[in-house]
Amino acid sequence: MIQPLNPKSNGQCQVVALPVKSSDGTLTHISASSLKLYLGCSLKYYFKKNLKLEEATSPAFQLGKAVHAGLQAFHVCRWRGESHDEQTVLEAYSRAFLEQEQSDPVNYKTGERDKLLEKGETMLKAYLDSDHAKMPDIPLGVEVKLEEEFAELPSPLLGYVDLVRTGRVPVDFKTCAATPNVELEAFQHELQLTAYQLLIEAATGEAVEGRELVFLVKTKTPKVIVHRLPPATEADKARFWSIAQAAIDGISRERFHPQPGMACSWCAFRQECAAWTGGKL
Ligand code: SF4
Repeated sequence: MIQPLNPKSNGQCQVVALPVKSSDGTLTHISASSLKLYLGCSLKYYFKKNLKLEEATSPAFQLGKAVHAGLQAFHVCRWRGESHDEQTVLEAYSRAFLEQEQSDPVNYKTGERDKLLEKGETMLKAYLDSDHAKMPDIPLGVEVKLEEEFAELPSPLLGYVDLVRTGRVPVDFKTCAATPNVELEAFQHELQLTAYQLLIEAATGEAVEGRELVFLVKTKTPKVIVHRLPPATEADKARFWSIAQAAIDGISRERFHPQPGMACSWCAFRQECAAWTGGKL
């Protein structure tokens, strides 16, 4: 079932549950983000998901979470038929910004916090001015949790979709520092978008008519870039199942090892990784 946010809820983001193993060794569920994490670097997955090592919250993560809360408030209020003006959105954003930094303190450089807070406001204002915010259709769901069992996977697939539009189109919002190469971004987020499509189609029994990535770009004058993709084809779905099966098999068999690459430059676990000599730490 599609489980849209309860209209009486406060519109806060839900916490994504970590995958855990059942007594027979299978994962209780697997999310698209966990699949991506494992495929990016299996040892990083082990540090984050198995050892549950803490990662310092970066300013970019702090901003992204708070901007998402503002976007969520906007679409939840549209869905409920309530006021969704700039003040409503910016209040939700500021509240999330404060709550987020209280629960996960950020090491700001001098003056960085105020600039960051202001940057998020200008990004949200740019979004509210964009054609995307002026869409005539009322959302089918906002921050939708979907979980389904598929014959192709040994564990249920889990996803949280930012927004579901008319035509059962999943929308994922991304905040980014520079103007993205949208084709490359679509390729990099293929797993997530195909997972959302499979989950929505399983929940509704109807085909998804497209998929959307919406980028809020932190340039001096923030930009909003919408990239609409066609639905995943049967070949795309077959590719998804193969990738997901390989990742789940690796996680279940505890195949964890370093996969050095560009992502090491922003990995929080370089020290632990350097100390790893095989097996479990
Ligand atoms: S430093 Fe690189 S190889 Fe090591 S865990 Fe992080 S991403 Fe993986």
